[in-house]
Amino acid sequence: MNANQKSQVNSLPGNGYCCDCNSSCPAWASLTYGILICFECAGRHRGLGVHISFVRSLTLDKWNQDQLDTMMAGGNKKFTSFLADHGTDQDNKTTIRIKYATRAVQLYKEILKARVAGKPEPKMSDIPSLDADFPSSPRRSRHVLDVLRPSVLPTSSAIIICSFKYWSHTLFRPLLLDKPRPKFALYAVYFGGGIVAYSNAELRNNSHFLRLATVLTVPVFLATGYILFLSLRSIKWWKTQRLCAFKSAKNKLKERIMKGRAKQNPLYDLYFPPNVSIGSIVEKAVLFYPELLVDHVSYASIVGKLSDAGILIVVVNLEPLRTPIWSDGAGKENRDKIMFEVGKLLGIEVKEWIFGGHGEGGVAALELLRSTTTISRGVFWGCSISHSSQIINKSTTLMINATNDQVARHTISIKEQTRSKSFFNIEGGNHSGFAHYGPQIFPRKDGERAITIDEQQKQCVEQTLNFVFGREIGKNKKD
Ligand SMILES: [Zn+2]
Repeated sequence: MNANQKSQVNSLPGNGYCCDCNSSCPAWASLTYGILICFECAGRHRGLGVHISFVRSLTLDKWNQDQLDTMMAGGNKKFTSFLADHGTDQDNKTTIRIKYATRAVQLYKEILKARVAGKPEPKMSDIPSLDADFPSSPRRSRHVLDVLRPSVLPTSSAIIICSFKYWSHTLFRPLLLDKPRPKFALYAVYFGGGIVAYSNAELRNNSHFLRLATVLTVPVFLATGYILFLSLRSIKWWKTQRLCAFKSAKNKLKERIMKGRAKQNPLYDLYFPPNVSIGSIVEKAVLFYPELLVDHVSYASIVGKLSDAGILIVVVNLEPLRTPIWSDGAGKENRDKIMFEVGKLLGIEVKEWIFGGHGEGGVAALELLRSTTTISRGVFWGCSISHSSQIINKSTTLMINATNDQVARHTISIKEQTRSKSFFNIEGGNHSGFAHYGPQIFPRKDGERAITIDEQQKQCVEQTLNFVFGREIGKNKKD
């Protein structure tokens, strides 16, 4: 939100004070109700879930016109006087959870929506009674357990934009280092086209400038055409090759949320170590990026074990595109926002942040590691890093790969492995064995696992913990 928009929103009656606790200068908004709240209350609102209150920061978030219109149609004074008119107790002792479950609040939410859309405003009789909202068991338990954020399919235009960036990156950035032969052939085609164009231009035109321009333009034109072709073709697999989390992983996360050991936010899932809550200090936290097209909930079981051992884990939510490279979710802005939110909004003081990632999520995390001065360590699972190996020299990293991983098969060379102490191979593991999803066939068909998924994850957790807590990395069985 820019300064002008902010002053417009701030000037609405009642917006000088937090709508829930009356503290001054609230810098957060609940878009669901068009109200402003302070950062403590924003944390409580997030705890209710995004379906009850959608929280945005006035300063950190970008705002679109619809969202701004909602804020302008709302205002703290309108909201509180509406609740007072409908007999909802406004005293500070009323917990936020109870307050935002009342029918009056739900009616206000619908009225606000209708006001912004220019539709007739609903009445109290249109709102289901609380009994219907919170049915007694067994339906109640289903309602309570229905805590996971649903995943949404991306739109085709979003896919084209993102896959254009994705393919440009894949075909150009690592140049000849990564998969040299097919890439070399591709470049030969591009520049061969340039040379053909050059010789034709020579026949027709003697201007050196025009000939040079042709030589430079044709390869770019060919490459762009090819990338566009791949991007259009991508729409199908971007929608069909999404890898769902196993039900067991979803249930693990639900259980943790119910026990207060995990929390879902729009941007990320948090896994708390035992006895850590808002306002605590933790020694180590890992900012973890999931693999391309993989549901981030798939990691619930394995990162849950890391959190049980005392690490705060943040699994970044890359929905709906699930593209770690080139998606805003894995960008620098989001990294800063997440670290800010954990520190300021939840008040959790983290002594050391470490990057983590699986597959392309690991590649994205490596990129971030390079650009983050305050973070110097990273742990990467099933990640092809040949083209990024220079980063490893500068910072401390641990690579954990699996011998039967066919997805990230072009991994670090044996020579490099023996030189680097922080490398671990899981004998008989595969790519999807690092989380609970699969089978993976995109971008390549994964290998068969020769050990159980529990065994692979046990080894992965062990070595990750060794690395995070500065212990020696276990010897590779092959050595
Ligand atoms: Zn407040």
